[in-house]
Amino acid sequence: MTLVDRFLKYVSFDTQSDESTGLTPSTPKQMVFAEYLKAELESLGLEDITLDGHGYLFATLPANIDKEVPTIGFIAHMDTSPDMSGKDVTPRIVEKYDGSDIVLCAEENVILSPAQFPELLDHKGEDLIVTNGKTLLGADDKAGIAEIVSAMVYLKEHPEIKHGKIRIGFNPDEEIGEGAHKFDVEKFGCEWGYTMDGGEVGELEFENFNAAAAKVIFKGRNVHPGYAKDKMINSIYLANQFINLLPAQERPEHTTGYEGFYHLIGIQGEVEQSTVSYIIRDHDRAKFEDRKKEMERLVAQMNEEYGEGTVTLELRDQYYNMREKIEPVMHIIDTAFAAMEAVGVKPNVKPIRGGTDGAQLSFKGLPCPNIFAGGLNFHGRYEFVPVQNMEKAMKVIVKIAELVASK
Ligand SMILES: [Zn+2]
Repeated sequence: MTLVDRFLKYVSFDTQSDESTGLTPSTPKQMVFAEYLKAELESLGLEDITLDGHGYLFATLPANIDKEVPTIGFIAHMDTSPDMSGKDVTPRIVEKYDGSDIVLCAEENVILSPAQFPELLDHKGEDLIVTNGKTLLGADDKAGIAEIVSAMVYLKEHPEIKHGKIRIGFNPDEEIGEGAHKFDVEKFGCEWGYTMDGGEVGELEFENFNAAAAKVIFKGRNVHPGYAKDKMINSIYLANQFINLLPAQERPEHTTGYEGFYHLIGIQGEVEQSTVSYIIRDHDRAKFEDRKKEMERLVAQMNEEYGEGTVTLELRDQYYNMREKIEPVMHIIDTAFAAMEAVGVKPNVKPIRGGTDGAQLSFKGLPCPNIFAGGLNFHGRYEFVPVQNMEKAMKVIVKIAELVASK
């Protein structure tokens, strides 16, 4: 089976995750795919294959070298985004893409065009796997799984490439932020790992946001409006006042790169009580802490104005920037860099404006930067993956294994 065959087979499984079930895996259909993968890994002759009750599938490619080499891991996720259907994915390969519009679905006039997606033009002459315009593709992250499995097959077929023990891990529920929660880092048993879950060729990520959620509750005083003079406090106006105290430029729509923000994600209000919800994001840990302190300061300021207890704040940290866990082991980034360059890929390091499974794994003791899997336009019908991107990602995996053993 080729890398492409493998990928096309994998996307035929509907593995959409679901935030609402509270289970792991969040949907039973992910387990169906996990069982299929387990059987495939067995038929390929990998060892120590385990699939636990939560849908975490681990396997080993044993070392073929007589020397102490660190055990490393490659990880990808099996689920697809809840944002778009992943059922009956029917992909098509556009061979030697010529740079023109690609009609994904004629009847619904769904067109993948360089006018909206100029990055298509970076892949002229390549073979693009696209959707039929009705579902997502699932390259996020089945491209990663196909690359990892194909790399293990390649290493088995090329014993002249010497490598240490390699572990591979496939997890459910990344798209709902639960991919790392039940990941048994100890059982995985690696010194470090790489998630194959980035986008365009060359992406290498080891910085993500520090993240917190904030809920601000405003208590009003409701009185019959006809008799309200000097008595009524309308909590909706308190909420409005608070919202306007935060800096208007520090919002997602005005920030990029390493700029953090306060993001108002919900508001619910009546005269008696109102609640606003925020998420707070910043790559810099000190600035992140300052943002939380600023919220506390504004709450205190309003309580001074309206009376203690009028405004209460609930702050909850969600995840942290993995950079602090990667910095002490920067050689794992250097290795990924060297592997990319060795196979003709230009590394492109950029901060993630979000979180990753790798960040949580890093804080659980498995330093885990993220490498490109090659797909673009994730989570929607315009998702596509150039075959050549997947081949490069596979080569990077093989090269990393080789470099780690050669040190
Ligand atoms: Zn992903």
